[in-house]
Amino acid sequence: MSLARRTFLGGAVAVALSRPLAARTIGGGGDRSQALRVLLGRGPVEPLAGGFRFGGNRYRGSYEILPDGRVINEVDFDDYLASVVPSEMTASWPLAALEAQAICSRGFILARSNPNRAYDVVPSELAQVYRGVESEHAASTAAVRATSGLVLRYARGFAQIEYSSCCGGYSESSADAWGAAPLPYLVAHPCPYCTASPNYRWSADLSGAHLAAVAGRIAPQIGTLQNVEMLDFDRSGRARSVELSGSVRSKRMSATRFRIDVGARLLPSLLVRRQQELPPTGTQAFAGLHIEGRGLGHGVGLCQWGARGYALAGGSAQEILSFYFVGTSIGRI
Ligand SMILES: [Zn+2]
Repeated sequence: MSLARRTFLGGAVAVALSRPLAARTIGGGGDRSQALRVLLGRGPVEPLAGGFRFGGNRYRGSYEILPDGRVINEVDFDDYLASVVPSEMTASWPLAALEAQAICSRGFILARSNPNRAYDVVPSELAQVYRGVESEHAASTAAVRATSGLVLRYARGFAQIEYSSCCGGYSESSADAWGAAPLPYLVAHPCPYCTASPNYRWSADLSGAHLAAVAGRIAPQIGTLQNVEMLDFDRSGRARSVELSGSVRSKRMSATRFRIDVGARLLPSLLVRRQQELPPTGTQAFAGLHIEGRGLGHGVGLCQWGARGYALAGGSAQEILSFYFVGTSIGRI
């Protein structure tokens, strides 16, 4: 028997995201909450009142064990969000920022649920941490409840949701970031609200040894690495290309790919304001690169530190989302 089954989330997403989802209900009585099927993995399950224990964590909802031993948690969508939102945004931040995050996370999960398998989502595929009840926080749970069923919509469908920690003062367009088709609501524009982020301004020294190791892995044909230059700056000020110069030849590559290869923690963003070769040391052909930049993450969509700043300035969740997703509206799933 095939384990694949269509769930309300995946099924609805598969039909062009243009009409309301037919909610699958869980619980008895008049509970119209929507259920999400989350793959947890393999391991022993201990039933508890109102939920169960798995892998040392308590989870809400019910569980199902597939014939191959994998455990699926069928959980109210908002209960899932109540666990996940505090891992995406600090729960002590203003309520309007948490509400904006909850609406974004809801749409982000909907768009990435997969209709062709026995569960809707795998938290790790969403780059989300789902640890059940222990992760919950009263303030973020309140934001999830206050925005229950709400998502960002554009035209007749759901808006594509993207978010990152800090845009460094200028958000990025999805087209420039990923070479995707332009979306009218994911465009580059100034953001005056994220200056309090510890990553609003940063500097990083990428050592020659590390860069040589990266180049040896991704571009061995260039020979010994002699220089690295970030270039092709787009409207937001982000580098779109990197040129690796070697003893044999040069190679120009995507800056996004380069950031992943170097390590996103070492190179917080591509919004580079200054780059300079490090002073030579010893006999190394290339000592490395000193970079001064702004922001943390890709900068597309919601700037989370910006949402915090806008909320502290009195902005509502709706105003925050209208600012970062221009021309979208808040609607129901
Ligand atoms: Zn920002």
